[in-house]
Amino acid sequence: MKGRMAYMDEPGRISIREYDLPKTVEPGAALLEVIQTNVCGSEIHIFNGHHPTMRTGGLGHEMIGRIVELGEGTETDGAGQPIQVGDRVVPVYTINCMKCPACLKGHPSHCEHTFTYFMQQDTPPYFHGATFATHYYLHPGQFFFKVPDTVADGEAAAANCALSQVMVGIDVADVKAGQNVVIQGAGGLGLNACAVAKDRGATVIIIDPVPLRLELAREFGADHVIDLSEHNSSEARVQHIRDLTDGWGPDVVIEVTGVSEVIPEGLDMIGVGGTYVLIGSIGFGHPCDFDPAYAVRKLIKIVGVNRYHPKYLQGALKFLERTKDRYPFGRLLDKCFSLDEVQEAIESSARREFARATIVP
Ligand SMILES: [Zn+2]
Ligand SMILES: [Zn+2]
Repeated sequence: MKGRMAYMDEPGRISIREYDLPKTVEPGAALLEVIQTNVCGSEIHIFNGHHPTMRTGGLGHEMIGRIVELGEGTETDGAGQPIQVGDRVVPVYTINCMKCPACLKGHPSHCEHTFTYFMQQDTPPYFHGATFATHYYLHPGQFFFKVPDTVADGEAAAANCALSQVMVGIDVADVKAGQNVVIQGAGGLGLNACAVAKDRGATVIIIDPVPLRLELAREFGADHVIDLSEHNSSEARVQHIRDLTDGWGPDVVIEVTGVSEVIPEGLDMIGVGGTYVLIGSIGFGHPCDFDPAYAVRKLIKIVGVNRYHPKYLQGALKFLERTKDRYPFGRLLDKCFSLDEVQEAIESSARREFARATIVP
């Protein structure tokens, strides 16, 4: 039996390829059928040729799948819950060996085996490290978690990247009740960050150029939304945010635009003693003008966040289970494509025409 995959032949060009599905699933592994998979900012960077090494191969990492075959001894998920064929699960998209120096120093997100299977589609079992496909192979030791029955496919589909990622960001910034949080960007990451910050009791201000995304931000609990076209200079936005925060500036700013030019503005608006969390700027080669005096004189802590410890994905599912009736997680994926339309899905995502594209293979 064969499965299908969207394969990047070279940056900017994708074709659909067919590969044999594994005849046997090795002990400790599992074969999933992809239910839904989303276009994240990383795919746009890779597709546009901005990644230093990833030039060809399968794409995609944010997904929910259904178990179609289990290897011998694969009996529980990452939290020890029993699993069986037919269960819906979400994978940690990286490998975390828990034995290498990075894992032992407490940074399994930067395990030396992190991307062992990324874009390695020319060797069996083919369907690994890439989710824009009909199937996905979970390697032995790769973390995955069962999706609670009460959480719908579309609600859980962004848990293993967007939601887990911003949960790390909110955690490292130690967002507390009563604080003011500004989120730069109302895409998939920004909307999830809004829900998590609101859940912690913060007041949330979100900035974006797309009115549709700002409307959605309101439904995700944003107290104030700032349309770039209405406040069209950096000075005007910073002043408006000061006015909204009793003249002090936000306690926490979270950058999820992937546009490094917004960083000086973030440093300008943030209040004394605040924390600036950088998540979106994952591509090298986009420096920005940065005046260190802002950080020094305002005692700003700048923290970079990239990938996550598996515990955050477990936490993300619990968060969805508890808050899914309060925030419209299912509507965050506001544009749907087929597997044959992956190229169009990535190109239109790059144009920021909607919040987050989903692919149903
Ligand atoms: Zn490791
Ligand atoms: Zn992602």
